[in-house]
Amino acid sequence: MLSVRYLMTSKYQGVKGGTKKRKTPKFEEIEAILQDDSYEGFCTTCGAWTHDSSEHDADGYECPVCGEYTVKGALTLLLEM
Ligand SMILES: [Zn+2]
Repeated sequence: MLSVRYLMTSKYQGVKGGTKKRKTPKFEEIEAILQDDSYEGFCTTCGAWTHDSSEHDADGYECPVCGEYTVKGALTLLLEM
C-alpha cells in the first residue's frame, strides 16, 4: 500500500511540473481568450495555444501538438500566474 501511494504521489508531482520546465503565456493573451469567449487552451509543455475546446477552468487536457496532458484553460492559467 505504501509503495502504491508513493508512486501515485510522485506521478502527480511529475504532472504538476516538479522538475520539468513549464512554458507560460503572456497575461494579454489570456485576457484576450477570456474576453473573446474563446475556448483555446494553452499547452505548458510546447507553449502553443492549441486545444480549441478547453473550458476556462480546464487542466490536464491532451495537447494535439505534442501529445502531453498539459493543456490548461485560460482561467486556470490566470490563477497560476
Ligand atoms: Zn503541447
